[in-house]
Formats: sequence, structure tokens, C-alpha cells
Amino acid sequence: MSLTEPGGVLQSCPGADAILDRAAGGERLSAAEAVEIYKKARLLDVGRTAGLIRNRLHPEGIVSFVVDRNINYTNVCQSACLFCAFYRSEGDDDAYVLSNKEIMDKIEELVAAGGTQVLIQGGLHPRLGLGYFETLFREIRRRFGVHIHSLSPPEVVHLARLEGLTVRDVLRRLKKAGLDSLPGGGAEILVDRVRRVISPRKINAQEWLDVMIAAFEIGLFGTATMMFGSVDTPEERVEHMRRIREVQDRTGGFTAFIPWTYQPGNNALGGKQAPVVDYLRVLAVSRIFLDNIVNIQASWVTQGAKVGQVALAFGANDFGGTMLEENVVRAAGASHRVLRDDILRAIRDAGYTPVQRTTDYKIIETF
Ligand code: SF4
Repeated sequence: MSLTEPGGVLQSCPGADAILDRAAGGERLSAAEAVEIYKKARLLDVGRTAGLIRNRLHPEGIVSFVVDRNINYTNVCQSACLFCAFYRSEGDDDAYVLSNKEIMDKIEELVAAGGTQVLIQGGLHPRLGLGYFETLFREIRRRFGVHIHSLSPPEVVHLARLEGLTVRDVLRRLKKAGLDSLPGGGAEILVDRVRRVISPRKINAQEWLDVMIAAFEIGLFGTATMMFGSVDTPEERVEHMRRIREVQDRTGGFTAFIPWTYQPGNNALGGKQAPVVDYLRVLAVSRIFLDNIVNIQASWVTQGAKVGQVALAFGANDFGGTMLEENVVRAAGASHRVLRDDILRAIRDAGYTPVQRTTDYKIIETF
């Protein structure tokens, strides 16, 4: 039995408290137990347990961030996901494909700003083949020392279909051209019931996981994301985490888990954004449940810096990227754009030491 009030559980049920105690003691939780604490434990109790686990994994009192730039090479996309405010059809007035020079100029600015990571992703363009990316990555590799953290699983599968190649062959060629790691975009919720509603033309859950497994097998690494709050249930959110945890047990390829909330503005799906308490609950449950993923990222892009600060007490140890550009989220209405100084201030004000890191979590500078 649990008492509830708007926004959360008022009084935990004893069963949920016992599960939290076991998690705090270092025990792995089953998916059913994670659902139990998700639904029946008090938010502050889930947060406290997540914070404790976070501090055990990261006892140094630091919060990391990466200086990066997100470059959306095209907004033309044949997937037409219902939750997306970013995509356009090829004939639309505001459809675009960035030229090689435009992309290089953006990377030059990133490097001048002390950036180390470029995140290149975009729509599933019907005529941008593998050669476009091979040329691009080779030139980036030749001119800059930045880490190429680019192309999410739906883009990789799209390229494989366009070229008539296997996913593994596409990944091998991209890696040879300079790709270092894959961002976890396009995961949304890794449950096909949800995917059929919000992104019926996109790859299914297993295909998403298979791209990551293939990438890890050839020596790349990646991140795992989760966009929740559209039509998904608490059980489906935990199922998403369970599938990620299972792949991580087998591969160890995920460096971080990054949950964020569905942004309802300017798209076909509509609805409301999940409340902050929901975001914090998901974040904390992920920290508790994903015992094999070292880093949990706070999503200030969708939540803003203030919620990002609170997230640090709910299990997050990383503030993500400075993201000089984030067109996909901005198109959906999230207007929080935090620059490096703001990130430093937010981390310090929350009582931690800010550190700039590389994509693979090596510390470059302590502030
Ligand atoms: S979310 Fe990605 S795949 Fe879906 S429509 Fe938008 S750009 Fe295309």
C-alpha cells in the first residue's frame, strides 16, 4: 500500500523501502523490484539511495562535462517520427543539407572554444550515402584532433539499407574513416509497443541494440539514452533500462546512460512534458538499477540548469555537453542553453568540483 499525492508518493510502502535498503547495500535489483520502487517509494527516498550509490561510484566530489558541438547535417528525414519537431521533407522551404565547408567551419569554432567532441547527427536523408560521411570524417580526422561521436543507430541502419551493406560493414567503414563512438540517439523507449506509436517507421528496439552490439564488437563505444514521457508506462521505462543493462553485462560498451523527457512542442504527437518530479524519479531509478553503467548524465538541455543541479543529488555525476548547437531539442521548444561558465557555476553552486572531460571520461582540466 502506498499513499499518493499529485507528483508522487507521500508515504513509501514498506516493501519498497526494503528494496531500497538492499540496493543501498549493493544488491542488484530485478526489473520487478525497480518497478516497485518506481511506483511505491517516496521520491526523496529513491533520490537518497541513488545519491548514495552515486557517491560510492564517484567519491571524488567532482561533476564532469564535455565541451562539444552538436551539428545536425540535415533536417531532411524520411522517418517522420510523430514526436519530432525537427524533420522536414526534401521539398520544404526550410529543408537543408550542410555543406562540407559549413561543417568544417563549425568544428573550427568548436576547437577554438576548447572543444573536444563533435556530435554529428541528422535526419534519415534518402540520398545521403555512406560516401558523404566517409569524406566528412576523413577530413575532420585530417584537420582536427576532435573525437567524432556521431551517427546514432537509426542513421547507421539507414546507411546500411541505402548501400545494401550489413550494419557491421557500415560501421567498419565509418570507423576506418575516423568515427570514434556512437551517440545513443533514437533509442527513445526500447519497447516496440511504444515505438509503433511514436516512431512507426524507425528501427525497432532489437535493431537499435544490435547496432550498438556490432559497434562494441569492432572496438567502438557508445552511450545509451532514453526519451520518456510520451506514451510510455513506468513498466516500459524499466524494461528499457533492463534491456540496456543486459547488453551492458555482455559487452561493457556503454559509457553513460542519459535519460531525458519528451518535448511536446511543434510536433504531431502533442501531449505534455513529464513533470520534473518524474524526471528525477526516472534518473534516480536508473542510477539504482543500472549497476553496470558508471556514468549517469543530467539532461540540462531539456531540464535546464537548476533541475540539472538537483539531478546531481539524484544520481547524476555528469553534466553532459556544452552543446554549442542543439537544433533538434530547440525545435521542440526546449530553450535552455547553458554555456560553459554557466555549467561551472551550476556545478560549484551544487557543492561539487567541475571537471572538463573527454568523450571517454578522462579528465582534461579541473576548475
Ligand atoms: S527523430 Fe530523428 S529519425 Fe525521427 S523524424 Fe526526427 S530526425 Fe528523423
